[in-house]
Amino acid sequence: MAQIVTKPKYISNIYNCKVIDITHLTDTTFQITFERPDFKFTSGQHIIISLDGDLHDREYSICSSEEDLNMKILVKEVNGGYFTPLLKLVKKGDYLKIRGPHGRFCIDYENSLNKEIILIATGTGIAPFRSMFFSYPKLNFKIIHGIRYNNESYYRGEFKSKYLSCTSREGGGDFKGRVTDYIKSIKFPDNSIFYLCGNFDMIYEVNNLLTSKGHNINSIFTEAYF
Ligand SMILES: Cc1cc2nc3c(=O)[nH]c(=O)nc-3n(C[C@H](O)[C@H](O)[C@H](O)COP(=O)(O)OP(=O)(O)OC[C@H]3O[C@@H](n4cnc5c(N)ncnc54)[C@H](O)[C@@H]3O)c2cc1C
Repeated sequence: MAQIVTKPKYISNIYNCKVIDITHLTDTTFQITFERPDFKFTSGQHIIISLDGDLHDREYSICSSEEDLNMKILVKEVNGGYFTPLLKLVKKGDYLKIRGPHGRFCIDYENSLNKEIILIATGTGIAPFRSMFFSYPKLNFKIIHGIRYNNESYYRGEFKSKYLSCTSREGGGDFKGRVTDYIKSIKFPDNSIFYLCGNFDMIYEVNNLLTSKGHNINSIFTEAYF
């Protein structure tokens, strides 16, 4: 009798994807473009990346749109981190091992039409928002980005008037201060939907600020990186 072998749910296919380009946006932040794995994904989802000959892997939000022919990620090199210093050494023509897509940090499109969709990020938490921005051009986005220095406004040129930076360590951006200071200072339309992505402390604080302003917890969606 034939044996039926089922694959455990947590094992997904591994795709070997060739690196097409690596762009260093600042001393510590880089964007990798690679051949798209043979799967569909929804903006806001992430993939798991590992390197040949290394057992470690890490999650990265997909930064490119659902229709893009290639895939992009945006990575911050963590000082003393294990994986990001290795990923930073990747060169054009190398291969990444990709699993995915994973996650539910996604937009309910039909429910989002005619509402203000507020995307709030710190640092590389802007990555899934770039994907959403280009996948859903009909949605009314406002993108609020917490950064330390103005050169971290990686996608300002693409987001144009939809983008506002909150720069904590220098002037010359749109708002001088932390993203939480900015949110304290403004009122959002009552029916806004919020997506928060980045470090856990920001997410916790912004979540509390929004609910204290009267926004329903069910209108707030979050993705914490660390
Ligand atoms: C769903 C999900 C999506 C993610 N998407 C992205 C993404 O698009 N881009 C991205 O750069 N990272 C992303 N991350 C974080 C990423 O998975 C790694 O944790 C990060 O790249 C650090 O890996 P490392 O091995 O270099 O550091 P590690 O050796 O794993 O960690 C060292 C320390 O650094 C802290 N740390 C982790 N990330 C950061 C950071 N960005 N800044 C400061 N300290 C940090 C950790 O908490 C830990 O204490 C995501 C995480 C999750 C859970």
